[in-house]
Formats: sequence, C-alpha cells, structure tokens
Amino acid sequence: MASAATTTDVLIVGAGFAGMYMLHKLRQAGISGQVVEAGSGVGGTWFWNRYPGARVDIQSLEYSFGFDEGLQREWRWSERYAPQPELLAYADHIADHFDLRRDIRLDTRIAAATWDEAAQRWRIATDTGDGYDCRYFILATGCLSIPTEVSFPGIEDFKGSIYRTSRWPHEGTDFTGQRVGIIGTGSSAIQSIPVIAAQAAQLTVFQRTPNYSVPAHNGPIPPADLEAWERDPRGYRAASRDTVGGFQNEARTDVLATESSPEDIRAELDRRWAWGGFRLLGAFGDTAIDPAANRIIQDFIAEKIREQVADPKVADLLTPKQHYFGTKRPCVDTGYFATFNRDNVELVDLHAAPIVTFNTGGIATTARQHDFDAMVLATGFDAMTGAIDRIDIRGVGGRRIQDHWAEGPRTYLGLTVAGFPNMFTITGPGSPSVLTNMINSIEQHVEWIADCLSWLADRQMASIEATPEAEAAWCRHVAEAVTPTLLPTANSWYMGANVPGKPRMFMPYAGGLNTYTDICNQVAAKGYEGFTIRAGETILSDSREFSSHPPMPDIPAKLMPIIVERLTAAGFMPA
Ligand code: NAP
Repeated sequence: MASAATTTDVLIVGAGFAGMYMLHKLRQAGISGQVVEAGSGVGGTWFWNRYPGARVDIQSLEYSFGFDEGLQREWRWSERYAPQPELLAYADHIADHFDLRRDIRLDTRIAAATWDEAAQRWRIATDTGDGYDCRYFILATGCLSIPTEVSFPGIEDFKGSIYRTSRWPHEGTDFTGQRVGIIGTGSSAIQSIPVIAAQAAQLTVFQRTPNYSVPAHNGPIPPADLEAWERDPRGYRAASRDTVGGFQNEARTDVLATESSPEDIRAELDRRWAWGGFRLLGAFGDTAIDPAANRIIQDFIAEKIREQVADPKVADLLTPKQHYFGTKRPCVDTGYFATFNRDNVELVDLHAAPIVTFNTGGIATTARQHDFDAMVLATGFDAMTGAIDRIDIRGVGGRRIQDHWAEGPRTYLGLTVAGFPNMFTITGPGSPSVLTNMINSIEQHVEWIADCLSWLADRQMASIEATPEAEAAWCRHVAEAVTPTLLPTANSWYMGANVPGKPRMFMPYAGGLNTYTDICNQVAAKGYEGFTIRAGETILSDSREFSSHPPMPDIPAKLMPIIVERLTAAGFMPA
C-alpha cells in the first residue's frame, strides 16, 4: 500500500547543478523544497558520464557557479577544462557547502505527476510507491540525461562486455590487453577514443557521421583569464552571461568571412585554433547564416584534419561533409584526430560497410567480422524532452505532456507549459540551454523561477499557468529565431533527428542567452505577462499575450537578403 505523501512547497526532480541550486535558492526565499534524484549521488551529467576522458568543453572558470562569493573564492579548478571526477567533486562540494543533502532523496525516480485542479497542487508518485504533495513541480532533469534506445540485431549474443559512455560503471574499466570497439563519433566518443586507444590492445571506431572537432589545448587556466576573474569575479561572470552563448568567445558579429581577405581569415582562424575550444565559433558573423562563409571554416578544419592524420584516406573519412560547421554541437578534443595514426586504431566507415549484426564474437559488417572483448556505445541521448517524456505528467483535465508535445515540445519561455500550472522546466526546450554554457543558463532560470515563486507568495497566489496564446507566440518566436540560421539543416539531436519517430523541430532557443534573459526579465517586470495567475476563484492576472519580443539585432547588410529569403519562405515575413 502506498505510504502517505510528503508535503512540501516545491518538489524538484534531479540533483544535478540545476536541482541543487534551485533548492538552495528556494531555501533563501523561505520556501520549502525537496529534491528527488534517480542516481545514487548528486551531480547529474557528471554523476553518470564517467567514461574515460570525460571533461567539460567550456572553460571551467566559466562553467562554475557565480551566485555565491564564498563558493567562488574557495573553489579552485586545476585545469582549463576540468575532468569529470573534479566536476563531480564540485557538485559534491556544493551539496555539502550549502547543506543540501538533508533535502535530497537519492535512488528514487519520479514516476508520475498529476495536477489536482481543485486543490491547485501537484500529486507526485515515485517508483518506490510513495509520493509528494506539493504546490510547485520543477523539472531539473537535464537536457542530455536519457540515452537513446539504440538496439543492434544480435547484441544480446555478444559474449564480451558492453559499456555505455552515459552509464559508465562507477568502479571504472581497465581495457589493458583488450580488443575494444566503439560505436559513435560524437563528443562522448571523441573524448574517450584517445584515452581508450592508449590503454587497449586494439580499438576499432565505427563511424557513421564524422564530426567537427577543435582542440581543447587543455592545461593550466590561461593567466589572462585567471587574472581577469580574480580581479573582478562578479564582473567576469556578468560578462559571460551577457553573451549569446553564456561564455566569452570574442564574438565578432560585424566581421564577415565573405568580406575578409584570405590573409585576415587565415590569421583569425589560426589564432582561434591555437587558443582552442569554442572560440572558433565566434570568428565571423556570417558563419552561422551564409553557406559560403561556413564553407571557409569547413575548409580550414578539413586542412587541420589533414595536418593531424597521416593517412589521407583516413583523414578524408574523418572530415565532415554532410553538415555545416556549428549546426551540430562541435566537439572539443584532446588528441582525437592524431589517435588515428596509432597502429592499434582502426576506423570503420559505416556508410561503406554497415553493421549487419552483433554476434558472440563482436560485430559483422557487410565487409567482414570484427572480434572484440568489449564494446562501447557512445550513441547519444534522447535530448531535451527524453527525461520529461518518461514521467507520466498530467496537467489540467488529465492532459498528458506526451500528448501536448506530440508534434514537438511546446513551452512558454522554455520554462512553463500551457495546461500544466505551477510546473517549471529548468533549461527546458524553447530556452537557450544546450546552445549555451549550461551553468549560466541554469543560474538564470533558477533565479527567475525563485523570483516568480516569491512574487506569487507575496500576493498569496496559488497558481501560475502559461496561457495557450503566450505559448503559441513563444513557439513561433523560437522557430523564427532559428530560421535565418543554418542550424535546422543538420540531422542533429537539437532537431530530434537522432531518435526514430521523434518530431523534427529545432528545440533550443537560438536567440542567445543575453537576449533571452532580457525577455524573461521583461515578462516578470510586466507582472508575468502571458500567464494566468490565480488563487481559487480569484484571478490576479490573465494577460494572455506575450509582447516582450527582442529588438531586431544589428544585422550586417550583406546578410539581409539571405535572412529575408528564409524568413519569407518560412512564413515569418510576407512574400
Ligand atoms: P551524439 O553527439 O549524439 O553522438 C552519437 C554518435 O553515435 C553519433 O556519431 C551517431 O552517429 C552515433 N550513432 C548513434 N546511433 C548509431 C547507430 N545506430 N549506428 C551507428 N552510429 C550511431 O552523442 P554524444 O557524443 O553523447 O554527445 C551528445 C551531446 O552531449 C554533445 O553534443 C554535447 O552537447 C554533450 N556532451 C558534452 C560533453 C562535454 O561537455 N565535454 C561531452 C560529451 C557529450 P550519427 O551522427 O550518424 O547519428
């Protein structure tokens, strides 16, 4: 028999960085909260993704919280891009520093959440048979937390070990002397391949689509960055948040590759390549829009791959040709391409020789049998909606979130969903989230939600619900923001393209974290426009529209024809 439900103001799902900061922020506001976490520890992404070589791809100095002066002062990163154990230690440190563990329940999954219209409360059920009775339900479930359910024929027959990068065993692995195969060449694979290759007797990489990767040049934190941060941590954080991507990358929106001389282009790209990481993305203002500009960076990276890979045929296979640079999240690597120069590493092109079946010994492709002691699946995630979809969430009138999102996720501001009152998503679909430094997006969301709940409490309001009109207007704006760019052209997980049957829709908001923050602040300043706010029969506000559109950015004149053409074709501008 189910035990009595625990009563709390807020139930938070997930004890990653988002869930933990949310809990802390609520406590500061005098609101009670409980966190429920499926894992047996805090840390979210960094709890699960323990594969060899896992590390952050945004500089740690920026991929860390800025909300607490003490936390900032006492935590020191050892490297530019911290490895997973250090990021997990940081998560544990946050849990201890803010005494969060007493309100975090581990090893428990939220199975169902039902809105009780009469009580204006959520009734939550866990997979252990008990539940919560709460006013607010906050999904801090992460954007990349549910692995895709790839199944290969015969996989159950394989006699060796099978590992998933996203569910790596906590005791680690030792591939010494083993023949290892890895499927996938996304970020997880690109980070783990060099480390596994250095340990295993033989590593075979099964590649379906090559990816763009830029060198991390990991090492000590660059002195200029460290000095800037130490001089003014608050200012440094504010500067990171006031960017499109939530990190500083010297973006030059007004300099166009197609208007620059070959010498200037080369010098700029070389400089950014030498600096490493995502700074390459900010080199020119037209790369994300104009195919000709994108081609310039593609050619530059192709040349860099050829420089790193000794065998021209292998270099060619590793060179992306099917998508524009930046339309799938670029990888940041440490020695990835050079790994293919090792005698013990082989690249299998799955386009030339697709997998036919797994078998007891390993994998049979159409070309031949490959025998392994261990297989690694680095095959990706059901991104952005996967974790939410797996909870049986029922809003007003018993409507299921899966039905509401049948044609793709619909949200207002990536924070709320019409018909699901008092439910919030941290870095949900329709927010900048995965296109940004997640920590800065998390901070912005958590602070906005905490302010909203305090505002409601001050006015003794019981519920807040996005109006269908505001949600529709936001979805339209999310689509409009990405339409001028090349982003929708790729078969990316941003588009849901990696999950068979998932609706194709560009899920994150491409308008930039800085613009987005302004919009959210305007919405709040207008008394939460686009929401119905009520307590019982009392309706405090029912401003149905969303009018806080961002101003048009300064767009270089040369790009206007392309942008107008795409917006017109998509119906955002009159023909
Ligand atoms: P991913 O980018 O989606 O890559 C999955 C890989 O598996 C792709 O190469 C994909 O090929 C391949 N694949 C999937 N199903 C396959 C099948 N049936 N047969 C053959 N190949 C198959 O996943 P990920 O590498 O885990 O990365 C996901 C995201 O997580 C990244 O984009 C990044 O945002 C984040 N991440 C971040 C870090 C970091 O911060 N350091 C590290 C890891 C991941 P196709 O491309 O052909 O589908």
